[in-house]
Amino acid sequence: MIKNYIGGQWTASQGTNSFAVVNPATTEELAQCPMGTAADVDAAVAAAQAAFPAWRQTPVNDRVQYLFRLKQLLEEHAEELARCITTEHGKTLVEARGSVRRGIQMVETACGMPTLMMGDILEDIAAGIDSQAVRRPMGVFAGIAPFNFPAMVPMWFWPFAIAAGNTFVLKPSERVPLTQMKIFELLAKTGLPDGVINMVHGGKEVVDALCTHPEIQGVSFVGSTPVAKHVYTTAAAAGKRVQALGGAKNFMVVLPDAVMDKAASTALESIIGCAGERCLAGSVVLSVGDETYDVIKDRICEEARSIRVGDGLSPDVDMGPVISQASKDRILGLIERALEEGAELLVDGRDTGDLPGYFLKPTVLGNITPEMEISREEVFGPVVLLAKADSLDHSIAWLNDSPYANTATLFTTNGAAARQFSYEAAPAMLGINIGVPAPMAFFSFGGAKDSFFGDVKAHGRAGVEFFTQEVVTIQRWIKDSSIW
Ligand code: NAD
Repeated sequence: MIKNYIGGQWTASQGTNSFAVVNPATTEELAQCPMGTAADVDAAVAAAQAAFPAWRQTPVNDRVQYLFRLKQLLEEHAEELARCITTEHGKTLVEARGSVRRGIQMVETACGMPTLMMGDILEDIAAGIDSQAVRRPMGVFAGIAPFNFPAMVPMWFWPFAIAAGNTFVLKPSERVPLTQMKIFELLAKTGLPDGVINMVHGGKEVVDALCTHPEIQGVSFVGSTPVAKHVYTTAAAAGKRVQALGGAKNFMVVLPDAVMDKAASTALESIIGCAGERCLAGSVVLSVGDETYDVIKDRICEEARSIRVGDGLSPDVDMGPVISQASKDRILGLIERALEEGAELLVDGRDTGDLPGYFLKPTVLGNITPEMEISREEVFGPVVLLAKADSLDHSIAWLNDSPYANTATLFTTNGAAARQFSYEAAPAMLGINIGVPAPMAFFSFGGAKDSFFGDVKAHGRAGVEFFTQEVVTIQRWIKDSSIW
């Protein structure tokens, strides 16, 4: 049974239930993750609260020294972390290495906190009166993570939170808790004071306790839309700051003037990379015009058939498994119903022979229409949906009709079309000839509509804003009392 990390100690959970962490490529059990309780949360918050006053008073330049040390340790252990991600999540080693790199970039960016959290000052806002605004840490923050990026997504939050002078309680996904445990072992080696960062394992009970705990100032969440809504409403009702990033349905539009072979391979990589388990994964490819549709269909089908599926630890594999049998069954159900609703089966990836884990090969479905369930629901699996659109206007109207608005991409060589797309498409992260438009650590990350609940997004400057309170002080110091 794996342990919580509370006040600098690996501590047994008070929960009596546990969840089996399974390698999805082999179905081998890797560990038992405890399903923690509200009492575990109380203990972690108490440790975080106790650590806060001294941590807040530690100069920001000293606080980031721990992150500089962590960055070095992460570099030294990057390969071990990538292998851990592949083993517990299933994505290929190449993909896992990329996600470790993205996580390290969060730490690097948070190391800039001395500059990032600087405030503003203005003399003489009135005669003899000066005004200053500082960014002040607030206390204990909580983070709740999904399964699909075991290293990176939790690091969208806690490096920024602690560099800004807060303390933190993380709940990783119970399906992939092992990578964060390795990262916390590295954090402990930096000498970070006890209680600054804590980890409680579990599911709904821990999440609900974090969302309602009176001493928690704010909650960062990433996961599916129904749970994001639940976290947003529960934590906001308890008076907390909330940033809750939800699910997605991402459209990719191909115009007749696009560079077709690049558009096709970029779209396919976006859809099937990480076996489709990315919130920025493309899903529906909207080709404008019959000719574009036929060219894109032929190229995507040819490439999709060549994708090698297997254990992501093998260098000869292009795509790993999905996370669980339940996830595989859900994706198969979506494909089945799409076929019943009239989709054309162009590449059938459902039969993976005698592979032992939760594998699916890429499936390509054609003649997708907006009414079909599969064109509206998040698939989170390697399924390419091909649809025809009449024009760019039609494409934008189609994708803007989705309740989700995480990302969308346009493939074109026409600047005016690119400008119209950037101006009119509803999603808050857009790509022009980019398949996975993921904002880097120093920009902010988050979608719109049902893909994001809250006001202030993740990492970049928004992360600094989320984890600090702006305090304005207006001062009058008088030599000559006649001007009071
Ligand atoms: P999930 O919603 O099932 O779980 C996310 C977290 O919530 C986990 O820590 C889990 O323990 C907890 N949880 C699950 N059910 C709960 C409940 N009923 N009450 C309270 N807490 C609960 O999501 P997942 O399957 O782990 O992750 C995949 C989802 O995450 C996809 O929808 C994907 O689009 C989304 N995601 C979004 C982004 C983004 O930036 N918008 C990034 C990554 C993943």
